Formats: sequence, C-alpha cells, structure tokens
Amino acid sequence: MTDIMVRIRGLSKRYGNREILRGIDLDVPAGSVMCIIGPSGSGKSTLLSCINYLERIDGGRLWVGGELVGYREHKGRLHELPERQIAQMRAKVGMVFQQFNLFPHMTALQNIMEAPIRVKRIRPDPARRRAMELLDRVGLAGKQANFPIQLSGGEQQRVAIARALAMDPQLMLFDEPTSALDPELVGEVLAVMQDLARSGMTMVVVTHELAFAREVGDALTFMDAGRVVECGHPRTVLNAPKERRTQEFLARVL
Ligand code: ADP
Repeated sequence: MTDIMVRIRGLSKRYGNREILRGIDLDVPAGSVMCIIGPSGSGKSTLLSCINYLERIDGGRLWVGGELVGYREHKGRLHELPERQIAQMRAKVGMVFQQFNLFPHMTALQNIMEAPIRVKRIRPDPARRRAMELLDRVGLAGKQANFPIQLSGGEQQRVAIARALAMDPQLMLFDEPTSALDPELVGEVLAVMQDLARSGMTMVVVTHELAFAREVGDALTFMDAGRVVECGHPRTVLNAPKERRTQEFLARVL
C-alpha cells in the first residue's frame, strides 16, 4: 500500500466558465485525518466529489491508493475509464453527506446490507452479521429494525457511517457530517468519527467543527475561492495562521 492515500496535483474544475477549483495540490497520508475548512462556496464539496469521481475534473491529476482516479494515462494523455471501472474505484471510497441520504423505505439494517449484497455480491447471512457488528460499533445495537424516520438525526448519520463502512472502504470522505444536526446530537456523531480515526481509517473531513479538527485532525487545510490557502498541523493553522485570509476567516468563525 502506498504511504499517500490521496494525492492531488494541479486539480482544476469548472462549472460552465466558472473556475471552482483552481489548481489544488494536497496529500493525505494513509491512516491520517485531513480536515478542510473554508467559507461557503470555496469549493470544499466539489473537491470531495472530485476525489470520489462524482464530478469530472478539467485539469490536473488525482490518485487514491496509488491509482489515478477516473482515467488511465497513456503516453502522457488521459483517457477516461469506463463507468464499470470507475464504479469499482468508487466502491473503495466511503462518503458521508450532510443530509444522511438513507433509503427511507429500508430499515437501518437493510440500509447497511444493501450495497455489500448488490455491489459486492456478499450473501445475505454474512452481510447481515457484518451489518449488526457495524450497528454495534456506531452505538446503535438494538436499532436494526428502525426505519430512518424512527431514528434521530444523529442516529441516522451513524447508520450512514455504518453503511459506508460496510463496503470496507480504504478512504472515508465526510461532507459537513454534523451541519444538519441539532447541537445536542453533534457529539455522538463526532465520537464515532473519532473512534474511526483511532482505528487507523484515512479520512477527509469537511467540517465547521474546529474543536474536532484540533483534537482529531492530523492536518488542517483552509480553502478559499477554489485554492488551498494554507495547510498544516491543525494547532498551527488554528492558533497561528500564516495567511491573512485564514486569519480573517478564523476571526469570523471563532
Ligand atoms: P463549499 O463546499 O465550499 O461550500 P462548493 O464546492 O459546494 O463549495 O461550491 C463551490 C462553487 O461551485 C459554488 O459557487 C457553487 O455555487 C458552485 N457549484 C457547486 N456545484 C455546482 C454545480 N453542479 N453546477 C454549477 N455550480 C456549482
């Protein structure tokens, strides 16, 4: 396995003629937690979508686990991979969104079992056993028969994390996972994420939770207007930011 789980070089992305990502360089070492902060509209979600190849890129390169994402390179030129191969790559990356996106007509257990059975062709019995273990891991033993509507937001988000983990991802992406939660439910989700980080999972976390970034993050990136303005140790970036834009942003949110 490569030491760098996510390597991004010169990544650019446009919507129409608007440049959303303007030459992003970033490395996320395997087993580490990279937190990303920045103003709304700075391109954080778009960056996560590119890592997972939910969005096509317009320039640069990115690799996950040493593999070029979305393309194969031949004689210096990129050729887009067929959808089947992209889906295989995507299956190795777990994604957790702000709006939990659970299947409303399925129980917690069914939500977790669905992708392993459908995508990985795991048989129902082992898939169910693993899903029960994961429910236990996220503190939801006993809630397997609940439908999403019968769970709190924090519980739904923990099911969403378990559902992503059921695919045995090599990397987990979190897009503001606690932003839609009532304040009293934020802690239970962050605790599950902290536990996951301790287990050695590589994580990229877009978040407003600066305390989480400080305590759990190995690195913190500040993005603004489609660029990485500053990246470093979370305590350094938060306590002694070098760039004026970072200072101004932190002064607003702290
Ligand atoms: P952030 O996550 O930092 O809030 P986003 O990555 O969501 O920022 O968005 C960056 C910019 O790209 C915003 O100006 C947003 O309006 C624009 N954008 C995002 N998705 C699309 C899309 N599918 N089509 C057009 N513009 C988009």
